[in-house]
Amino acid sequence: MTDSTNTAGTLPTPTLHAESGMLTLEGLPLTQVAEQFGTPTYVYSKAALTSAFEAWRQALSGRKALVCYAVKANSNLGILSVFAQLGAGFDIVSGGELARVLAAGGRADRVVFSGVGKTRDEMCQALLAGIRCFNVESAAELERLDAVAGELGKTAPIALRVNPDVDPKTHPYISTGLKGNKFGVAFADAQSLYRRAAALPNLHIAGIACHIGSQLLDPAPVAEAAQKLADLVDRLAIDGIVLEHIDLGGGLGIRYRDETPPSVAQYLAPLLKVFEGRKEELCFEPGRSLVGNAGLLLTRIEYLKPGETKNFAIVDAAMNDLARPALYDAWHEVVEVVGREVPTQAYDIVGPICESGDFLARGRELAVAEGDLLAILSAGAYGMTMSSNYNTRPRAAEVIVDGEQAHLVRARESVSALFADEKPLG
Ligand SMILES: *Cc1c(COP(=O)(O)O)cnc(C)c1O
Repeated sequence: MTDSTNTAGTLPTPTLHAESGMLTLEGLPLTQVAEQFGTPTYVYSKAALTSAFEAWRQALSGRKALVCYAVKANSNLGILSVFAQLGAGFDIVSGGELARVLAAGGRADRVVFSGVGKTRDEMCQALLAGIRCFNVESAAELERLDAVAGELGKTAPIALRVNPDVDPKTHPYISTGLKGNKFGVAFADAQSLYRRAAALPNLHIAGIACHIGSQLLDPAPVAEAAQKLADLVDRLAIDGIVLEHIDLGGGLGIRYRDETPPSVAQYLAPLLKVFEGRKEELCFEPGRSLVGNAGLLLTRIEYLKPGETKNFAIVDAAMNDLARPALYDAWHEVVEVVGREVPTQAYDIVGPICESGDFLARGRELAVAEGDLLAILSAGAYGMTMSSNYNTRPRAAEVIVDGEQAHLVRARESVSALFADEKPLG
């Protein structure tokens, strides 16, 4: 590697290494993955997924706790099956995600269902499957869920998602626990809503939930939210409403560039202190921290285009494959897959889409030539799940590397499949 910031020791994926000028994942050369499956391709490391999950399990050992992987971060069945086999629960936000979890071998009784807009159909589907809990986000949803459960002759297990009004100190688009946010019920209304829930015949009050934001780098706001929830749980108990679980949501951040996120244990320490001696089961909904650094986007340089003020590396991946740079101005590390003995130059790494916002990274020092492979790192979370078919671009293939083996877990889309459900008029 010629880029001095990309020395092997600093790569954010634990199983990604630069070995004699060549990038390998779990020892498998990424050149081989590109040859076998083409580009652009999302490549995930099973060992990295597993160790990320084990870090959560270890930090919670000795406590009654359930780690529910937030499916929206990456919903590929291959990824879900890895977590299902490790005993994870799942946090879903749609009926579609529930179907994926079940298809991947996940257990319904370990599924929590979040989201502000659950439809009747989704409620029915989740009740019939027998999920563990509905995280209810409004008074209207509470009434609807009771009615739907009644029609099915079922009892719906619920938690209220409360909005603890703490500032997570993260990007405003991914901060969710402040007043004026569409998520959750206002903290001040929670107690009366719990009383209402207790009076409804087809609900079982199971717990309480919150989720204050994403890419959190400071444990303090979550511990503050935890304290608020614990106090509320005690007030509810005085009303005779006794909760079985407390769900603290997801949000733990990862290193994309030079962030220094706490370890899972460091992140949980102040929070676990709040719950010391309490008997409720704790529940967490991590997404990004389980998959973000376990995946990368493998892409090939189509053209190098020197410009008057800057140079462009035009690659075969684009904003439709990885939207985060265009959407949040997010920074992803870019690494040459094979080192090359040419001087480095600064490049904007852009896709072929007809939008000026179509960039993956800007101003990166790379030693590259046309046809070279690049790895866009830390792309395992909110990468493939936010992809689109803009410009009628088939979505990327997805591969999970497991030791020597590379498993195709989603075939590259075909162009004909993109418009198979359409027809010309007349
Ligand atoms: C998005 C989301 C998560 C996961 O967030 P991460 O930052 O990826 O850990 C968890 N819970 C809820 C309710 C969410 O909306």
